[in-house]
Amino acid sequence: MVFQPVIGLEVHAELKTKSKVFCPCPVVWKAPPNTVTCPICMGFPGVLPVLNRKALELTLRTAIALNCHIHHQTIFERKNYYYPDLPKGYQISQKRIPIGFQGWLEIATASGRKKIRIHDVHLEEDTGKSVHGEEAGDPSASFIDYNRSGVPLCEIISEPDIHSVEELEQFMIKLRQLLLFLDVSECRMERGHLRFEASVSVRPQGTNTLGTRVEIKNLNSFRAVSGAVQAEIERQIALLKEGRSVQQQTMLWNEASKRTEPMRTKETAHDYRYFPEPDLVPVLISDEWLAQIRQTLPETADEKTLRFVRVYGLSEKEAELLTATPAVAHFFESAVRHFHDPKGIGNWMLGDLQGLLNESQKDWETCPVSPESLAQLVQLIDDQTISVRMAKEVLREMFATGRAPKTIVSEKGLVQIADQDYVRKVVIQVINNHPHAVADYLSGKDKLIGFFVGQVMKATGGKANPQLANRLVREALESRRTSS
Ligand SMILES: [Zn+2]
Repeated sequence: MVFQPVIGLEVHAELKTKSKVFCPCPVVWKAPPNTVTCPICMGFPGVLPVLNRKALELTLRTAIALNCHIHHQTIFERKNYYYPDLPKGYQISQKRIPIGFQGWLEIATASGRKKIRIHDVHLEEDTGKSVHGEEAGDPSASFIDYNRSGVPLCEIISEPDIHSVEELEQFMIKLRQLLLFLDVSECRMERGHLRFEASVSVRPQGTNTLGTRVEIKNLNSFRAVSGAVQAEIERQIALLKEGRSVQQQTMLWNEASKRTEPMRTKETAHDYRYFPEPDLVPVLISDEWLAQIRQTLPETADEKTLRFVRVYGLSEKEAELLTATPAVAHFFESAVRHFHDPKGIGNWMLGDLQGLLNESQKDWETCPVSPESLAQLVQLIDDQTISVRMAKEVLREMFATGRAPKTIVSEKGLVQIADQDYVRKVVIQVINNHPHAVADYLSGKDKLIGFFVGQVMKATGGKANPQLANRLVREALESRRTSS
């Protein structure tokens, strides 16, 4: 029997705001523990939360870009549970009236494009962070850092429309790209800006009923999501094939053993007793505000890809790679503004420069070569000042030092020799020095051209223009044939 996986994903994205969602504490990365807190985000009695308008706006942008309907009047609710990282004893979230609902995100699959439905998009606050044992320098204790308490999160919940790990990966990539282009989240996985929970069930292929689902919590990277979901699909299929049943439960992913394992706590049977947050007024979202947000939505990655093909004459593949993130797209367009050779600039970006970034584990945001410098390098090749081979060396130097290509070229004396008379003299010399090779060439060994060009390059310290050297060698040898 063949089984079909049924996967749904919940994504928590940390929003890019200056301050927390209900208090004025700044959102900062790596502040000393418990230094960015106040009575509000610590849940002291008698304090009143005030909604951060920017956090609401970023959630609205996300909901609109995910093609959601918008609730014009929404409320916040208390999700009640006890855990040490939750000082209030409840989390302010949204359940019954989320900001956005019934949207979709289109992904590319092996069999074409597919819409994954979005159940809802809502705004909530983050919890504090537990730091256990070794990580905090004391294996016998656990610690809590409340700096993260009250940081705004946008939660995006998909419908269980995902039917393979490949589709799941596409969904995550596309969603991250969307959030980056919308500029609503930095999406830095290593900082926990994106966190996932997956629900997984399997059913016989061709049936429509849903199997018993298992939730997997605390997934903090694409790799963890894919690994956990794949392992869970296999576990469930194995159980069913043995004639056993899947238990509804909450699991955690064990990266080391590559297995999903049941959570030890009783968190599975939660009743969060949601009720409206009495300290916050209902939020009214006007048509004017929505229209204004719609008008200021940036170009999506897909729109940008199409434009790059149309305007810059790139292939679809090149355009897709050059619009993968806002940073790479911005780099490309800045470079092209400095020197209009989109093909050349695209090739150098996706080839040698991408290679250098990978080697040094940098990305386009931290690239030591500026768009202007890359444009200058491509221009130097274009006007034949330097050869492609020289350019590779220059780029490596630019990457290591951040200096401009023109400076490096003149300092290293790398300027290519395109002076015909000079190169011709060298060619004649080389030919005179190798009479046997000339005789062999004239008797039909055409491949010796490469040998002569190599000798000319050697004699000029690699600086002769290779195309020019090639042409002059051929001309000189052929003139020997007619004269002999
Ligand atoms: Zn605070």
